Amino acid sequence: MRKNIFVAALLLLAGITMSYAQPKPFMFKGQVIPAGTRASFTVPLATGAGDSVRLPFTVLHGTEPGPVLGLIAGVHGYEYTPILALQQLPDLVDVQALRGTVIVLHIANVQAFSGRSIYYNPADGKNLNRSFPGKQDGTVTERIAWFIAHDLFSRCNYVVDNHSGDGNEDLHPYAGYYEYGKQAAASREMAYATGFDWIMPAPANLAKGEQALYCNREAALQEIPSLTLECGRLGKTDAGSVDRITGALLSIMRHLKMQSGEPLKANQPFAITERASVKSEHTGMLKTAAYAGMLVRKGMKLATVTDFTGSVLQEITAPVDGVIVYMLKTPPVNKGEGVFSFGVLPK
Ligand SMILES: [Zn+2]
Repeated sequence: MRKNIFVAALLLLAGITMSYAQPKPFMFKGQVIPAGTRASFTVPLATGAGDSVRLPFTVLHGTEPGPVLGLIAGVHGYEYTPILALQQLPDLVDVQALRGTVIVLHIANVQAFSGRSIYYNPADGKNLNRSFPGKQDGTVTERIAWFIAHDLFSRCNYVVDNHSGDGNEDLHPYAGYYEYGKQAAASREMAYATGFDWIMPAPANLAKGEQALYCNREAALQEIPSLTLECGRLGKTDAGSVDRITGALLSIMRHLKMQSGEPLKANQPFAITERASVKSEHTGMLKTAAYAGMLVRKGMKLATVTDFTGSVLQEITAPVDGVIVYMLKTPPVNKGEGVFSFGVLPK
């Protein structure tokens, strides 16, 4: 009897050891994250001016093997809903039930966030999402781009770069990806797994020698399945947008089999394959009652650009039958800036 118990105990122990073999700890930038745990830390990055910025990370390392998913927010520091979503996300993931690893870069451009700056890093005046693949010894924004394109992407099997309308932009939520190379099919599947109803494939229109510029395009050029997720607008922090982003990211994790359960699915996803835009011909003031998501007919009057005294300089009308994907919504407007971006309705 006692012998039988001993044998049973041995078998049980062997069984546990076999089925619960611990995966290795995840190593990232000097941090060691044991399986089934998460860790938050900052990674110092030399700015080139003798000091450093610290990039805030959380890594969640699961108990079973699986892919590494990189999640980025704050490439634009005034886009708050994705930043808030990535702060909440780690609490929504049970690392004990996670397959693979999630690397969260909470705010890629900390200086723009702290400086309340749309588009640009106030430290060097550069737009991080026009700076890829960056420069190892460049300005601080170029160094951040280089870090993401090399140190981070080299560790990721999948990447989602999270944006919203910037502080001055209205935007209808969408999932964008690049129809480029071998990663296109996996990126397309990820886009549909967000449950977002507007899907925006971007063409692979990179001329020879042209740089990626955009974070998502850099990932695509490196053949990493990747998305730009856009949700939120006008510097707002609304819970609806934040929840929609966390919901989409958790759904992507289910799609990638990192968590159990079925991914979300939009009822009638609308793939926006043709785009149009209108630029301002003047520097001045924008006045508009149009809004993102609005259905427009060609020729419909959408906005007026005036000088600072109120004299009309330009009437903006819709150039196509379509929907407004994103648009400038606050008064300042500069010559040459895109005011409206449309998705063209299929004929
Ligand atoms: Zn952005």
